[in-house]
Amino acid sequence: MIIVMSPEATQEDLAKVEEKIKAEGLSFHLSKGAVRTIVGVIGDKKIISGLQMNAFKGVEKAIRITEKYKLVSREFRHEDTIVDVGGVKVGGPHLAIMAGPCAVESREQLMEAAECVKKGGANFLRGGAFKPRTSPYDFQGLAEEGLAMLKDAGEKFGLRVVTEVVNQNDIEMISNYADVLQIGARNMQNFQLLKEVGKTHKPVLLKRGLAATISEWLNAAEYIANEGNYNIILCERGIRTYETFTRNTLDLGAVAAVKELSHLPVIVDPSHGTGRWQMVRPMARAAIAAGADGLIIEVHPHPESALSDGDQSLTPQNFESTMVEVRKIAAMMGKK
Ligand code: PEP
Ligand code: MN
Repeated sequence: MIIVMSPEATQEDLAKVEEKIKAEGLSFHLSKGAVRTIVGVIGDKKIISGLQMNAFKGVEKAIRITEKYKLVSREFRHEDTIVDVGGVKVGGPHLAIMAGPCAVESREQLMEAAECVKKGGANFLRGGAFKPRTSPYDFQGLAEEGLAMLKDAGEKFGLRVVTEVVNQNDIEMISNYADVLQIGARNMQNFQLLKEVGKTHKPVLLKRGLAATISEWLNAAEYIANEGNYNIILCERGIRTYETFTRNTLDLGAVAAVKELSHLPVIVDPSHGTGRWQMVRPMARAAIAAGADGLIIEVHPHPESALSDGDQSLTPQNFESTMVEVRKIAAMMGKK
C-alpha cells in the first residue's frame, strides 16, 4: 500500500500513521517530496488489505498496489530519481554515457579505450573484470588485477568506473575500485546478490534478465531498494525472442514502460541488445529518442582482436561519430 499524505498534513498526522503501521506489525519506507510525504507500507498482504488508512487525518489517499514492487514505483516517488555517482549524475536532465571494452584485457588495451571514450564524450568507463561467460572455456576476466587497471584508467581520464559483480563475496573488494556495481542479465534474479548490493550505498546498474518481464525486472530493483539502497540505474539490454539475426531483441518499449511505472533512471545497452556493431548507432539514437537516460556501449580499440564481444564493439572513430548524433537527439530531449 502507498499512503499519500496531503500537503497540509502535520508531523503529528504522519506520526499517527506510522504508529498504526507499526502496531499492525508492518514496516514502512518514507519518501519526502517537496510538497508531499509518501509512505510505502510493506508486510503481510492480508493485514495490509484490512487497513483503513483513508480514515486517518492528513491522509490524501491510500492506494492498494497490485504490483508487488512499491519503493521503485512512480506511485511511491513521483519525481525522477537522479543517481549521483561521485558528482556525475544519472537521470533527469543528465545524459549518462558509459563506454569501454566488454572485458579488461590488458593495461594498454584499457588505457587506449579509456582515452578514446573520454574523447568521444563518455562520462563513465565500462569494463568487465569478472566475466559471466556462457562457456567455461571463454576468457573469464582479469579479476582484481583488471579492477586496479579500471581504477587507474578512471582516475587518469576523469571517468567514473562501472564493472560487474558476479559473486556476493567480492562486493566489498570491487567497491574499493569501482563507482557503480553492475548486476548482469544472468544475475538479475540472484536475490542474495541483489540483497547484498542493496546493503551497500554504492550505485547499482541493474541489467534486465535475458527472459525477464518488466515486472520481474522492477521486482529485482525492489530487492535492492528494500535494503535501503535507492541508487539504482536500470539497463535495458535486449531480451530473448525467436529472432536469430540479432543476438537479442532490444526492447525500447520497455524504456517507455519503465518511465511510466518507476521513478528510477533507465539506460540502454545497444551492444548486447543487438550483438552487431552495425546496429549500435541507430539503436543508440532510438534509445535516447525513446526517453532513455543514457547508454552503455562496448568500444574496443581493436574489435577484431577483442577477447569478448568484438562483433558488437564499436571502433573509437565509430563511437565518436555515434556520440555526435546521440548528443543532438539528447539535446532535443532536454538532456545533456
Ligand atoms: C556485459 O555488460 O558485458 C554483459 C555481460 O552484459 P549482460 O549481463 O547484459 O549480458
Ligand atoms: Mn559484453
